[in-house]
Amino acid sequence: MSETDATEPAVPTPHEPATLESATLGRTVWAEIDLAALEANVRTLRERASGSEFMAVVKADAYGHGLLPVARAALRAGATWLGVAQLPEAVALRDAGITARLLTWLSVPGTDFAAAVARDIDLSASAPWVLDEIAAAARSLGRTARVHLKVDTGLGRGGAYGQDWTTLVRHARPLEAEGAVQVVGIWTHFAHADSPEHPTVLAQQERFFEAVAEAERAGCRPEVRHLANSAATLVHPSAHADLVRPGIAMYGLTPVPQLDDDFGLRPVMTLRARLALVKGLPAGQGVSYGHAYVPATDTVVGLVPAGYADGVPRDATNVGPLLVDGRRTTIAGRVCMDQFVVDLGAGSGASAGDVVTLFGGAPGEPTAQDWADATGTISYEIVTRLGARVPRLHLGAPDADAKAGA
Ligand SMILES: *Cc1c(COP(=O)(O)O)cnc(C)c1O
Repeated sequence: MSETDATEPAVPTPHEPATLESATLGRTVWAEIDLAALEANVRTLRERASGSEFMAVVKADAYGHGLLPVARAALRAGATWLGVAQLPEAVALRDAGITARLLTWLSVPGTDFAAAVARDIDLSASAPWVLDEIAAAARSLGRTARVHLKVDTGLGRGGAYGQDWTTLVRHARPLEAEGAVQVVGIWTHFAHADSPEHPTVLAQQERFFEAVAEAERAGCRPEVRHLANSAATLVHPSAHADLVRPGIAMYGLTPVPQLDDDFGLRPVMTLRARLALVKGLPAGQGVSYGHAYVPATDTVVGLVPAGYADGVPRDATNVGPLLVDGRRTTIAGRVCMDQFVVDLGAGSGASAGDVVTLFGGAPGEPTAQDWADATGTISYEIVTRLGARVPRLHLGAPDADAKAGA
């Protein structure tokens, strides 16, 4: 038997502008995406790395925030590049009319590299076969493909490792001479950038600059050398190089939650729902599947129409933090596919239609980091896993106050 913690102090319900109230009337669950906060975060990060180009990482539907509105906001705030993991995301950006430099980095044999080359999308290569397929696509179009060679400096994931780097560089040079590809970038990714004192950070950085030097000795003339994700952008200035690639920090979430510093970042996503039902339950009546929560006293519960299909982790059963009826509490019982329950307490004056905040950034609201801590994951997963059926309401876009959809 578990019980909702009713000892936390009451906090005010955040002010809701009238336009937002009407935009969310009748909606079960939605995510407010504060594009003004996103722009402020991009500016904050650019100040940290003022000598470097800024690649806004907008993979995975901009970490769940909506690809196109986020990409446009990042560019308004001074991002000079966009980065995505998968080619279809890059194609979607180009086909929406975005002309900024654009890099995509994960491919498998048979990837439609011609679609990338035709759209001026930069490609990453970690192995000779990737260069061969990119070169074939470029030849078929009579163009030169722009390629970033990726070196594994110790992440042990993508990139060419050890002697394979020498092989990759040697493989690229004749393709450059022929005009099929041009090596415009050399890059790598950190394993431990979120641990500010970790010795691998400097070791990877050293290995990176050695790899760059080797490629340059072989004749490569990259425009950009890059290795810094959000954590490195914020805490490892020596890794800024020619270009930084922040993702999570742009969305206002810290990549180093163990540090007592929010770096002046503002959370961009707020996830809210409206109560679908408020009713009394007697003491001892188990709540929801498996009766994982049983109220000790007669109480009033609220039904929240958001579940794991919307991205609410099932691991948030009995622990997911909420702001409802002016106070902090937690989910009561199982998170189901479409809904969960909250114990509002016997004296609750809440009614159907009242707003429940799952996470956001205003005072008193739980954060995505709180959800990550409660469910044993990282804030990245909390925002990125948001379900496709949750409408994203983009606030602060120049053309509309509250615009639904991606
Ligand atoms: C996702 C990703 C980033 C951004 O990482 P954050 O930790 O979100 O800043 C940068 N570079 C690469 C290669 C990535 O895959």
